[in-house]
Amino acid sequence: MERHKNLDHFVSRRMGKLFIFILTLGTKCVLCSSVAESAEHLFFDCSFSSDIWQKILGVLGIRRSSFGFSQELSIAAHQSRKTGATATLYAMCFAETVYAIWLHRNLLIFSKTNKTPTQLVKEILFKVSCRCSEELSSRLLM
Ligand SMILES: [Zn+2]
Repeated sequence: MERHKNLDHFVSRRMGKLFIFILTLGTKCVLCSSVAESAEHLFFDCSFSSDIWQKILGVLGIRRSSFGFSQELSIAAHQSRKTGATATLYAMCFAETVYAIWLHRNLLIFSKTNKTPTQLVKEILFKVSCRCSEELSSRLLM
């Protein structure tokens, strides 16, 4: 029960910051500079973000492309209530990936610091690894 509470708190904390951010969307996507920015585009449809999701899902052993924002959020919420390594890692990776894309977007805007999807995936997996058990962490090796 404590694990669920901590995981829910972790996901909620990350997602709470995200929802504040969504209120500021409306200009062109800074990751691809080709489409108007929206939560759906920025976090899932953008080729940059899509590449990150593909790599993260691959590390988790999930062989599919990412679904849209609302469906992935629904899956993450469902997974965060389940026990088991894959469910736990999925929920943690979901929250950390959305947060990393948001931070990267802000870094591009405010400090012109650019990273590749591969660099962000390594950072995401490192942060998740630091927050989970050694057993779970070993499943995140690329
Ligand atoms: Zn884009």
